[in-house]
Amino acid sequence: MKLPNIPCLIVAALLSVSFVAEAADAKTDKKKYPLTTCLVSDEKLGGDMGDAFIHKHAGKEVQLCCKSCLKDFNKSPAKFMKKLADAEKKAAK
Ligand SMILES: [Zn+2]
Repeated sequence: MKLPNIPCLIVAALLSVSFVAEAADAKTDKKKYPLTTCLVSDEKLGGDMGDAFIHKHAGKEVQLCCKSCLKDFNKSPAKFMKKLADAEKKAAK
């Protein structure tokens, strides 16, 4: 008696899982942004405060938790852009 082809089923299941994950990624469109927290306040994004506040600095996306953090960001953008660059390096590892 031949057993069902279990490895094939497992591969199919894994493929469908990674496909779903990719689809979800594309939907949120946050795949390249390395942080899940506000760059200024370190508050978690997309929580009780609602969606992240998206700001563009020198063509680069910055995600903040609220408008008042944008004021702080604009006081010393270089400092926060460095923080973002460091997070990107970490994420790329
Ligand atoms: Zn904020």
